[in-house]
Amino acid sequence: QPTTEPLPIRRLEESLINRIAAGEIIHRPASALKELVENSLDAGATSIRVTVKDGGMKLLQIQDNGCGIRKADLRILAERFTTSKLSTFSDLSHIRTYGFRGEALASISHVAHLSVMTKTRSDSCAWKASYTDGALAPTKPGQSVDPKPCAGNDGTTITIEDLFYNTPTRLSALRSSSEEYSRILDVLTKYAIHNPKVAFVCKKAGSPSPDLTTPSASETPNTIRLLYGHSIAKDLVTVAVSSQDPAEDEASMDMDEPEDDPEAWRAEAHITNANYQGKKMIFLLFINHRLVESSRMKRAFEAVYNGILPKGAFPFVYLSLEIDPRSVDVNVHPTKREVHFLDEEVIIEKISDAFTNALTLQNHSRTFEYQT
Ligand code: ADP
Ligand code: MG
Repeated sequence: QPTTEPLPIRRLEESLINRIAAGEIIHRPASALKELVENSLDAGATSIRVTVKDGGMKLLQIQDNGCGIRKADLRILAERFTTSKLSTFSDLSHIRTYGFRGEALASISHVAHLSVMTKTRSDSCAWKASYTDGALAPTKPGQSVDPKPCAGNDGTTITIEDLFYNTPTRLSALRSSSEEYSRILDVLTKYAIHNPKVAFVCKKAGSPSPDLTTPSASETPNTIRLLYGHSIAKDLVTVAVSSQDPAEDEASMDMDEPEDDPEAWRAEAHITNANYQGKKMIFLLFINHRLVESSRMKRAFEAVYNGILPKGAFPFVYLSLEIDPRSVDVNVHPTKREVHFLDEEVIIEKISDAFTNALTLQNHSRTFEYQT
């Protein structure tokens, strides 16, 4: 009710502030999972196994074989702004890891029950710890909060239980278990395509067979075949294009070393040819290995295919673009997926041209085949 008298302004309780902030980063099980997968990849894992109960609302567990966490770091692991990936401001401009803000585990600990089991190569046993509201917590009531030794493999297992148990509005905004689960599979599918050397497995707790599995040390087209099927994989064209490639109309003689040239970029894409006609566009975009969205790019590629596919038919496009980290804002909020970067128009145009070339070349060779 609107009042005529102003109400007193009060300071929110610390725990409430943290819970609200955490809800901004962790929207749903799939967003928690994305953070955890990125942590595992940052840790150099070659195997990532995910177990899910009730769409990730009851249980979301991720086991990796990465470098592990030092026992001495477990105390501050879930505190806000604690990270092993960034120490100075200038580090921000050449960040090579997914994480750097040290907010994911902290956020999760404010809105779920978080526990960690981890072992580094040099540890003689694994250590297990639980967290609540950013700090170590007893695993069982009455126990001490200290990490406990236990048996375990090298690597880290993160367990999230009862997501949003203390934030009913977030919980009620979630969809059905099956929809949340399909979002989880979607995130994993995309990361698996982008990381074909890493073995991914995802299953529901108690289910004998996984819903997603990829082998380790694979190649992109093979992973696409496994996860998107033969109909897409058989019609894929690989396109590589970079700022060093001479443009069509101006033979540029740019002799700069790619590393030093802030305008240098390169892209690798796997795109379907005119033989594949999907019902909707599948567009996977990674910029500097981050899963992002660019509606400008999507529109440009749609236009490329407009001239190639019949109306109502859509392509599969997977694009990995690497640009100078300084030309894309790494400080974007973790949940902000839509990105912009320097020279966007030029880069998009050059990639679109390369797509058109690759696709029309394909068409010619097909015609040629038919003629012989
Ligand atoms: P950030 O990734 O931004 O550093 P997080 O809250 O996601 O912040 O993680 C905090 C720290 O915990 C990381 O910097 C890393 O040192 C450690 N960590 C988290 N997950 C893992 C993992 N799976 N393997 C090894 N270390 C991890
Ligand atoms: Mg992280």
